[in-house]
Amino acid sequence: MTAPLSPRTIAIASGKGGTGKTTVAINLALSVPNVQYLDCDVEAPNGHLFLHPAIHTHHDVRVALPQLDDAVCTRCGLCADACEFNALAVTPRRVLVFPDLCHSCGVCTYVCPVAGAISETTRSIGTVSSGTAAITTGGQLPVAQGLLNIGESTAVPVIKMVRQQAQPPFTVLLDAPPGTACPMVETVRGADFCLLVTEPTPFGLNDLELAVGVTRVLGVPCGVVLNRSDLGDAGVTDYCREHDIPILLDIPFQRELAEAYSNGIPWVVAQPAARAQFQALFHAIHAQIAAAENRP
Ligand code: SF4
Ligand code: SF4
Repeated sequence: MTAPLSPRTIAIASGKGGTGKTTVAINLALSVPNVQYLDCDVEAPNGHLFLHPAIHTHHDVRVALPQLDDAVCTRCGLCADACEFNALAVTPRRVLVFPDLCHSCGVCTYVCPVAGAISETTRSIGTVSSGTAAITTGGQLPVAQGLLNIGESTAVPVIKMVRQQAQPPFTVLLDAPPGTACPMVETVRGADFCLLVTEPTPFGLNDLELAVGVTRVLGVPCGVVLNRSDLGDAGVTDYCREHDIPILLDIPFQRELAEAYSNGIPWVVAQPAARAQFQALFHAIHAQIAAAENRP
């Protein structure tokens, strides 16, 4: 009998959308015990389309916003000059605040020389929902997802709250946003491992290189899942070999899996035998984490 694996935080990311990142995250979540699925793709969470979780709690995600008192403010302009995000504009009659641009950094309050000219209020930018999803082989999968309000541009606070839903001692699977911008960085930061899902095409290679660069800066060990591995070229495989990045799972294209996906049916539900592949992937990830931790 094998010993239970230690709880870990595993981010599943991709340099670009449409590579099968959520497919891998969902099927991993449905194949191994004692895991929690957190959907950090807060601009377009879609894990729920496959898991159909029963939601038990909702949290409003609120961020700080400066509030100005025109009666006290002298229009000196120091706050607008200090704002890195151009979220303030000083006019002769008042200081305008642009909430969509504000990053809640607090610098304007810090630099304002007039007591009481700036105070702080909050505003809602999204929600985080938590619940459980039934697993067809038995048991419940803890699930949480974030949803950024339409028109909002700052996903990071919502992602932070999604990550706060982690419930030890579960291993946490973080379904990251696509790309390599701040939302992806916020999801991968501090994880024990980052699984990068890509496809064997020049676009896949280009975006994989960017994503690997992020994981290296963050000091998070990474490995690759090569989706639709029989379509395309050898560029990704050659790159991984040259940069000592393990390819932990190859997924050849199967039309029936694409059809199941389009009907919202996870692969391991359509083909239960596929669970073994994801269980092997899970063990391979833990072996990579252990190897990284033992590296001098
Ligand atoms: S720094 Fe303070 S006093 Fe000056 S314009 Fe901004 S809010 Fe008004
Ligand atoms: S809190 Fe930061 S981002 Fe927002 S208005 Fe003030 S200085 Fe600009």
